[in-house]
Amino acid sequence: MKLGDEQKQRIEKQLSEVTNGGFACPICGNLQWRFNETLSEIRTFSEGKLSLKSLIPLVVATCTKCSHIVAFNAVQLGLFEDEGAENDD
Ligand SMILES: [Zn+2]
Repeated sequence: MKLGDEQKQRIEKQLSEVTNGGFACPICGNLQWRFNETLSEIRTFSEGKLSLKSLIPLVVATCTKCSHIVAFNAVQLGLFEDEGAENDD
């Protein structure tokens, strides 16, 4: 899913609020990040079985100096509602 301008602004606002204006790379200390134009996702572990019900959408940022990657939960950032989420438990 490609991020729209409104979503990019929301990400920037949310992260600015929780990080007090920015955050340093834990590996090299750099303050510059490149955010992916699309969302990524991970799925929760389900004992080796393929489950598409428990996907977590992610906003991914890469450190411009050392290439370390950090990911933020897109639902928790408020990019969209978690209406389709189901639990496999
Ligand atoms: Zn870095």
